[in-house]
Amino acid sequence: MTLIDETSTTPAGGPALEQVRRLVTVLPGPRSAAILSRKTDAVAGGVAHSIPVSVVAAGGGVVLDADGNSLIDLGSGIAVTTVGNAHPAVAAAIAAQAAQFTHTCFMVSPYESYVQVAEALNRLTPGRFAKKSALFNSGAEAVENAIKIARKHTGRQAVVAFDHGYHGRTNLTMALTAKSMPYKAGFGPFAPEVYRVPGSYPLRDGLSGADAAARALSLIEKQIGADGLAAVIIEPIQGEGGFIVPAEGFLEAVVSWCRAHDVVFIADEVQTGFARTGAMFASEIFGIEPDLITTAKGIAAGLPLAGVTGRAEIMDAAHAGGLGGTYGGNPVACAAALAAIDAFENDGLVERAQQIGAILRSRLDALRDADPRIGEVRGHGAMMAAEFVDPATGAPDAALTAAVARACIAEGVIVLTCGTFGNVIRFLPRSPSATTC
Ligand SMILES: *Cc1c(COP(=O)(O)O)cnc(C)c1O
Repeated sequence: MTLIDETSTTPAGGPALEQVRRLVTVLPGPRSAAILSRKTDAVAGGVAHSIPVSVVAAGGGVVLDADGNSLIDLGSGIAVTTVGNAHPAVAAAIAAQAAQFTHTCFMVSPYESYVQVAEALNRLTPGRFAKKSALFNSGAEAVENAIKIARKHTGRQAVVAFDHGYHGRTNLTMALTAKSMPYKAGFGPFAPEVYRVPGSYPLRDGLSGADAAARALSLIEKQIGADGLAAVIIEPIQGEGGFIVPAEGFLEAVVSWCRAHDVVFIADEVQTGFARTGAMFASEIFGIEPDLITTAKGIAAGLPLAGVTGRAEIMDAAHAGGLGGTYGGNPVACAAALAAIDAFENDGLVERAQQIGAILRSRLDALRDADPRIGEVRGHGAMMAAEFVDPATGAPDAALTAAVARACIAEGVIVLTCGTFGNVIRFLPRSPSATTC
């Protein structure tokens, strides 16, 4: 089984792009270079890019640039186009909805597709209890709203986030995010009442899940106190922080502590959600039932949409008019989400992500066995990573990581790096069904 069937094209309806890696110039080619030079002149310098191309089309798992280079996409726009880029059913749903109406503002005049997305989220997310949802535009906005809801529900203010956590780039989510460069440096002051504790990073802390949880919970009790704590927020598998999979038992222990102290446990599944990890949601892998779950990225195959889903009594804590936004749950984005969710559920994408995970793991494990500079291969499903280290000391090797990523990109393979120490290459391929390969 190969990740890309070299002979297939995407079916009619999407751009019929050959699923191949084909370079006809060095990157960037002259057309891309001209556009990137205009980008430098026109676009704020803070908006960086990692792949030196200007995209003209993307279909299935390839990206086509302005010079005719076809790149294999192992990043999926950062875990977004999980169903494949320009998935035909998604593109058709977007076109049909755009022709019907593009916007009313759900808070002014509601429509069914928003309700359908909420029903799907309530049904698909883990947790055997009555749930409700609210929709927003981005992952950061979902996280902001989950915190608002938890604070209103508990009447408390403090929030705990974890080392290596990433939750977005708005003011509150910068405060929740651990890493200074490039996300926070110079952008403070940050929102108050946010506290950070160590999580579980088995390769680097060597702790069992129970010991890592005891360390975190003891700090929370001593330095913050459960009485003032509204919520604990964590990514079940940390994304930007390095695809860190917590040791067994860690998340369960944190969840049961939260239950015992009436603290809202929020799973940020913005990156791990929607079949990415070989489960519909990563919380299922660890057997936990979060009180609230934030989603975005993979939810709508590239349209801006995000959700907060959770226990109905918590979700209903906010007063009428306290949640919302002009565009949140936009009808075109909801149409895209319903088509994407249909693919996740009915095209076997959870199983496909498991298969992709098995392929990635066996190849990366073989590389690790042959080369001690790969310190660890980890992840679940179509969310796998390799961490690069100095074999003598185990110290993170960011320079090697950057060199490997550069070499992949120069060969026409889109890979992304991540990690607090910049020493992780992450793989986030799409999980196409057999029929949309
Ligand atoms: C990407 C990400 C966010 C932020 O989402 P945006 O849509 O970029 O605002 C929040 N949490 C996690 C875990 C993410 O990976």
